[in-house]
Amino acid sequence: MSHDIMLTGLRQNNLKGISLRLPKERLTVFTGVSGSGKSSVVFGTIAAESQRQLAETFGTFARHRLTKRERPRADRLTGLTAAVVVDQRQVTGNARSTVGTMTEIHPVLRVLFSRRGEPSAGPATAYSFNDPQGMCPECDGLGKKIQVDLDRLLDRDLSLAQGAIRMFAVGGYAHRLYADSGLFDPGKPLRDFTEEELHLLLHGGGFKIDRGDRVNEYEGVVTRFHRLHLNRDLDRLDRAARAMVREGPCPACRGRRLNAAALASRIDGLSIADHCAMETADLIGVLDRLDDPVAEAAVASLRRIDAVGLGYLSLDRETPTLSGGEAQRLKTVRHLGSGLTGMTYIFDEPSVGLHPRDVHRLGDLLLELRDAGNTVLVVEHDRDVIALADHVVDMGPGAGADGGRVVYEGSVAGLRRSGTRTGRMLARATPLKDVV
Ligand SMILES: [Zn+2]
Repeated sequence: MSHDIMLTGLRQNNLKGISLRLPKERLTVFTGVSGSGKSSVVFGTIAAESQRQLAETFGTFARHRLTKRERPRADRLTGLTAAVVVDQRQVTGNARSTVGTMTEIHPVLRVLFSRRGEPSAGPATAYSFNDPQGMCPECDGLGKKIQVDLDRLLDRDLSLAQGAIRMFAVGGYAHRLYADSGLFDPGKPLRDFTEEELHLLLHGGGFKIDRGDRVNEYEGVVTRFHRLHLNRDLDRLDRAARAMVREGPCPACRGRRLNAAALASRIDGLSIADHCAMETADLIGVLDRLDDPVAEAAVASLRRIDAVGLGYLSLDRETPTLSGGEAQRLKTVRHLGSGLTGMTYIFDEPSVGLHPRDVHRLGDLLLELRDAGNTVLVVEHDRDVIALADHVVDMGPGAGADGGRVVYEGSVAGLRRSGTRTGRMLARATPLKDVV
């Protein structure tokens, strides 16, 4: 079996029937001007074919659910392994996805708490905000709750008769339920209501009102709003109701997502929510002191996050709020923690948007992935990343119809001597110590 990825007669997009031999379990960097064909090789051919072949191995049901993939235009592609594209696209997912869940550190902390937390809340699932056993029953583990905003709902300068309850049209059915209830003076501005009157208006209930033609169960405005609008799918909240609410921390768990038992359980005075609210760099110190093998497993992953310059993140940070660069480095950390080997990892300009110091940290991650037995392919312009390559493919010489050819293939040292555009750039700028 060949230890190389063999690509013959590539013609995807602008590729001119080129052939390449890429070493497995090495770091290969693809360079060249924008539009030279790098992406057509890496994404249009290698990633596309790998993912297409993987889809073929799924059952018919799964295959129908995957996007139909065309076979890339090429004569022959052999030696491909399962490919993972680690891009700077933001982490999709919902409010239930956090740095802790994405990196699999939160499950480790749950095991730690199930073993060490006092008083115990129960098994590891009792510490999960995504499990009925652990989630706050008030917000279902979201930590946030849509609540009626009284400042929006009420105009306190007006009386009920003048339309003090903004949602209700004066004279309409809902308006008359309150204005004609006989419980309030309809001509009195709300700001002159006593506390009792206001409470009765907003939260009262448990008695009936005789309105002449029929008898109604009385229900305060806010109670009624909750029953009609908030105890159902929020995506279907109508516009008038949406204008009266705001999202705030859940009053029951104060944004910590967990039920009372999970929050009461502590290790050295700290709940699992306290752990997750800390910056990862600080959490490392807290867990290190426990001298516990489970804590050590979490620390190993936390150190990776810190090592890529993300030590300021907390585990409870929601992943959709991460920047593209943060997301890419976290995805890389997650793959490093997965222990999978024999994969092909593909990176699209991973240095974009990074501080120079973080480019070095990213480079270390790429090498770590390689050393774990994976093939790493990187499309990149940054010379510090190029300098790390075991193998370089320089595409060009120009863009579009003027590109699509391999202008250089080989070592970084060879590239510097090659006289290609990228080679000249490297020769000018890279210190000699990088060329060994
Ligand atoms: Zn809650």
